[in-house]
Amino acid sequence: MIKVSRMNKHFGDLHVLKDIDLEVKKGEVIVVIGPSGSGKTTLLRTLNILEQPDSGIINIGEQSIDFSQPVSKKEKLKFRQQTGMVFQNHNLFPHLTAIENVMEGPVTVQKVSKDEARKKASDLLTKVGLGQKLDVYPHQLSGGQQQRVGIARALATGVEVILFDEPTSALDPELVADVLDVMKELAKEGMTMVVVTHEMGFAQEVADQVLFMDEGKIVNQGSPDYIFNQTDESRTRQFLKRIQ
Ligand code: ADP
Repeated sequence: MIKVSRMNKHFGDLHVLKDIDLEVKKGEVIVVIGPSGSGKTTLLRTLNILEQPDSGIINIGEQSIDFSQPVSKKEKLKFRQQTGMVFQNHNLFPHLTAIENVMEGPVTVQKVSKDEARKKASDLLTKVGLGQKLDVYPHQLSGGQQQRVGIARALATGVEVILFDEPTSALDPELVADVLDVMKELAKEGMTMVVVTHEMGFAQEVADQVLFMDEGKIVNQGSPDYIFNQTDESRTRQFLKRIQ
């Protein structure tokens, strides 16, 4: 579903992603962990070209972009439509209701009719447990509910991959479980997911592969059992020891 080959990204002199190679199969859940500043968010953002790599090739689904060549805006937009993104801070439109937020992508980007988009948005909001909140505004929702609207919105355009950037780290602890439950449900349904998170319980329970990043590199990767219980790799062990 996703294949990244020798991808590099700099911010000025800072070499933030170093020769990244990554493969994600359809239906897999990949959890990315590592110290702050190691490049996790930047890696995720390159997958839908919110950050443009300096070199390397990214394939998602049928599409492929080689970043050592000039890339047109049109190409980027088309590529981006294959993935949905859920951010740390939901970033819903404050002046739109929950259902309008979810309808927005299908109506404006995909030119789906409003009736059809409304029906789908209602189904998706029901699926994330917000069937009673269709017509309320974001400020009337808890942080966890807003995040779940964000997930429904990411799903609305029928994407095959969802990218999650620390989706629970801005939430009060009692709201985290509801959001993780929705993510677990999506994983069970076979959605391909790449998740940057500090929720090690989620990683242990749901991930097919855990990637450990440090200083812009994927230093270690494997099953949750391998990463959390078996690996001898020193930086991974040090990191996990520190956060326990
Ligand atoms: P992580 O998600 O692992 O905390 P990030 O991907 O956010 O790491 O950041 C990796 C490095 O890139 C950090 O040193 C960060 O300061 C830097 N960085 C991230 N975004 C930008 C940006 N837009 N401009 C300049 N530097 C950035």
